[in-house]
Amino acid sequence: MEVTHMVRSKEPTGLFMMSESVASVLACPDCREKLVVSEIRCDCTKCGRSFPVVEGVPFLLPQGSAMFADRSDNLFRRMDGEYRHTPGWIKSAKTILSGGLHFGQKHFDTIVQKSASSGIILNVGGGPTRERPQFTNLNISNFPNVDVVGDAHMLPVLSNSVAGVVCCAVLEHVREPIRCVNEMLRVLMPGGHVYIEIPFMQHFHGYPDDYQRWTLHGLRYLMRMFQEVEAGVILGPGASLIEVFDSYLTLPFKNQIAIYAIKGFLRVCLLPVKYLDIIMAKTPAAHTLASGLFFLGQKVR
Ligand SMILES: [Zn+2]
Repeated sequence: MEVTHMVRSKEPTGLFMMSESVASVLACPDCREKLVVSEIRCDCTKCGRSFPVVEGVPFLLPQGSAMFADRSDNLFRRMDGEYRHTPGWIKSAKTILSGGLHFGQKHFDTIVQKSASSGIILNVGGGPTRERPQFTNLNISNFPNVDVVGDAHMLPVLSNSVAGVVCCAVLEHVREPIRCVNEMLRVLMPGGHVYIEIPFMQHFHGYPDDYQRWTLHGLRYLMRMFQEVEAGVILGPGASLIEVFDSYLTLPFKNQIAIYAIKGFLRVCLLPVKYLDIIMAKTPAAHTLASGLFFLGQKVR
């Protein structure tokens, strides 16, 4: 199956079009029936639900969506606002002064290599950035670069239909991670690869809420229905240390400018700690103090 780099494209008429490959795997989130897709809506012929398509993005939330039934939630609004309206210069500063070195780029390349020629790579929780052009981003709201709006607890995708699944920094925010992992297993083709990133030693970050952390052993247990290819540290112990410092020292402050100033100053001072992770993150015990962990696995044929 040929997968185009643009999962949505703008027609000369100004209309956004969903790619055919994405349309072909969409299912009703409630009854899992294959959806009948048009430019303006998706219809379920089994349970009778109809879902809107806005600028090429299908909105496929299940009835009484487990997490986001209450869309007036303040944290949800904050996430929505920040995802949509963070100025470019703040994003650039955040990247330069980020609290840690992320070792995940090679894993994104691996999953693209292993999956892109055979079908869709579904990025559960993807957006507002697109980590790789081959990723189809699914999220709970129509942020920039989101291709399908859906809930990770009830993926609006046909069983055994996607070649790869990616899910980064999402499972700590869902109420029932095991349900989400079961959904990833269901939609993945036999032999397909899954790539997960989760936090370990990270402060509470509620977007829209924050429910749990995993050790490396806990992550392996959570993903036990997949055959492990590789698992380990994605953000090292230095990143944990920086997080603790800046979360602790900004605890008394509410003013965003003061918080940015303190974090910026600290992160400049702690740059050596950040770069020491090039060595520290590769030590055998690094996972016991890591900021983030990963799991790359395969659905057994
Ligand atoms: Zn249905």
